[in-house]
Amino acid sequence: MSPETAATAAYIVAALLTVMSLAGLSKHETARNGVVYGIAGMTVALVATVVLAANSLEAGAVALMIAGFVIGGGVGLWRARVVEMTGMPELIALLHSFVGLAAVLVGWNGYLEVEAVGAAQTTVPPELLGIHSVEVGVGVFIGAVTFTGSIVAFGKLSGRMKSRPLALPGKNALNLGALVAFAALTVAFVLAPSLGVMIAITAVALGLGWHLVASIGGGDMPVVVSMLNSYSGWAAAASGFLLNNTLLIVTGALVGSSGAYLSYVMCQAMNRSFLSVIAGGFGVESGTAAADVEGEHREVQADEVAEMLREAASVVITPGYGMAVAQAQYPVADLTRKLRDKGVEVRFGIHPVAGRLPGHMNVLLAEAKVPYDIVLEMDEINDDLASTSVVLVIGANDTVNPAAMDDPGSPIAGMPVLRVWEAKNVVVFKRSMAVGYAGVQNPLFFRENTSMIFGDAKKRVEDILAAL
Ligand code: NDP
Repeated sequence: MSPETAATAAYIVAALLTVMSLAGLSKHETARNGVVYGIAGMTVALVATVVLAANSLEAGAVALMIAGFVIGGGVGLWRARVVEMTGMPELIALLHSFVGLAAVLVGWNGYLEVEAVGAAQTTVPPELLGIHSVEVGVGVFIGAVTFTGSIVAFGKLSGRMKSRPLALPGKNALNLGALVAFAALTVAFVLAPSLGVMIAITAVALGLGWHLVASIGGGDMPVVVSMLNSYSGWAAAASGFLLNNTLLIVTGALVGSSGAYLSYVMCQAMNRSFLSVIAGGFGVESGTAAADVEGEHREVQADEVAEMLREAASVVITPGYGMAVAQAQYPVADLTRKLRDKGVEVRFGIHPVAGRLPGHMNVLLAEAKVPYDIVLEMDEINDDLASTSVVLVIGANDTVNPAAMDDPGSPIAGMPVLRVWEAKNVVVFKRSMAVGYAGVQNPLFFRENTSMIFGDAKKRVEDILAAL
């Protein structure tokens, strides 16, 4: 068997393992297996690539390739080991930017090998040159949009950039203009490939990626991350066409389409229009402002909350990003056990975008051994909140904000929220009166049945446990 045939066979196995990995990751119980299939698939693909290269390239080139694997793999392993759960989305965003950059470099390499040296010097048959040029243009474009878009998403998620949407005048026209310019430049490149047009395509795409994501506000960031995931898949698939690598085409298309579908599902959960989000906040009018929220809030101490819980018949806990920051899931699990032992009905209400990545809260609660059957989705618990004695809002803010329902001018208007204010008593755990991720004040804090307990959520829950 020739090395090429062996590599193709290995690539098919790797592609199948990718499909199995995605299928495994779609369910809680099989997620671990999904990860194992993914690792196996990547390993098969890497080994096949090195073996194939060793047969066709010079020793120096192969050594460079292996050095790249070792350095890249080492850095990846190190970052993945040290990353906090709360830092996961930004790490993912950063990794997407690498895929984008790789696609740009592959595209430029294609240009330098073929178009730049002229038809006579390349192995590409003359009748396929036009197709090659389209592949170069499209690959560079998707890669560059993914690259800068992911960097902005990383900046916003890690707090290095403001999460507010950038609202340039005529931003929709800018986006559309960039798309039209790309189409025109690609046609020009196919007709007469030149360095100038290559630079122009790259620059337009870098600018578009930056502007697209910068125009999207904090509340829509989860969708952006999964959308960039999709773009990175398409970028990889585009590279696959240029490199004539079936594995890249297949896995790229899988990642591209599953990322797009996840974004669609998330948009439905947040009541956002899919098109408006991917078009960079299309339809979100600049200048709309949320009504100012003012009022008096009531502060309570741990022993008062303990008293309230002692008298409660039913308790619902709605965790958010603050629970992850404080790592409060362990005392929260202890509190749950203690209350259940006393005969209090305790359940959890999980908003689809609570925390900083889909499923964030479920992972933390599972880690602290909270039974699955009392952890309910937002839609499963919302109608029960009105008959609940006490809701404990632990480090959540945007996901329990009534302004999403009451204030059409709010940046999060229309986003489904947990209607915690319908309960008899609401206790909000946070450190200050500061706003949440979307940067909007929360009228819940000023409602009559709401009390605030200030301080680190873990510490405060431990205080309540002690008082109980
Ligand atoms: P928010 O980010 O709205 O609010 C978190 C709250 O936790 C803050 O008000 C903060 O207040 C408090 N907090 C932070 N640290 C602590 C601590 N140590 N102890 C106690 N409280 C603390 O959280 P939500 O989960 O309600 O909402 C998630 C937001 O993130 C949404 O806007 C969502 O769209 C967005 N998002 C979600 C993603 C996802 O996929 N899940 C991805 C990206 C963004 P204070 O500072 O006063 O303590």
